[in-house]
Amino acid sequence: MRLDKLLANMGYGSRKEVKQLLKSKIVTLNDQVVKDGSLKLDPVVDQVRINGKLLQYKKNIYIMMNKPKGVICATEDEKHRTVLDLLNDEERIFQPFPVGRLDKDTEGLLLLTNDGAFSHSLMSPKKHVDKCYQAKIKGEVTERDVQIFANGVTLEDGYKTKPAHLTVIESGPESFIELTITEGKYHQVKRMFQAVGKYVLQLKRVKISVMHLDKALKAGEYRELTNDELKSLN
Ligand code: URA
Repeated sequence: MRLDKLLANMGYGSRKEVKQLLKSKIVTLNDQVVKDGSLKLDPVVDQVRINGKLLQYKKNIYIMMNKPKGVICATEDEKHRTVLDLLNDEERIFQPFPVGRLDKDTEGLLLLTNDGAFSHSLMSPKKHVDKCYQAKIKGEVTERDVQIFANGVTLEDGYKTKPAHLTVIESGPESFIELTITEGKYHQVKRMFQAVGKYVLQLKRVKISVMHLDKALKAGEYRELTNDELKSLN
C-alpha cells in the first residue's frame, strides 16, 4: 500500500493534506524520515510514526459485500472471476477470504475477513447461525411446504435438514419466499426446494445472524463493517 493512501485512510486528511504532512518531515517509516507519499509499504509489518508516535494499523479486516451473480466465492481461480477480484488493493493487502460460500448464481450478503476465528465462529455447524434468503421459485409454494421445511426436509442424498423457517410472500406460477436456515450444506436452499418438487429461479442472501445486507450497497459493492456491527456478530 502507498504511504499517502495509508495516512489518508487513517484520517490524516486528503491526499493534498497528507502531502503537506509529509513535507513537514515529521513522518518516519521504519525510523527514516519520509517525504515521498508514493513509497510502498506493508501496513502490517512496517512501522509508520508521526512525531515519534507509532500508528496502530489494524490487523484484521471485516467486509460486507453485496455479491453479484457471476462471480465465485474463492480466493483465486483460473477460469472465473472471484469475489476477491472485486476488492481494491487496499483491502486485498489484508488477504481476506470469503466467510462461507454462495453459489456463482446466488447474490447478496457475503462477509470477507482475514480473521480465521471470526469466520469459524460464524460458519461452525455447532453454532447454528441463522442465514436468511429471499428466493423466486418456479411453481406454487404451499402451507404444506412450510410444514415440511419446519419439520426438516429429506434431501436426495438422505440427509434430513434441521428445522427451517419458510415464509411465503407470494404464491403462484412463480412464488416469492423468505427462508431462514441454520446450516450451510452444499446448495442447501436449492436442494430443499428440489426435495419438494420445486425449482429455485433466483436466490439472494439478505441476513446472517443479526446482520442485514446494507441496502445502500449495489451488486458488487462492499464496505467495512462498523465496530457495532462487528460486536453484534461476536
Ligand atoms: N443455498 C444454495 O442453494 N445456494 C447458495 O448459494 C446458498 C444457499
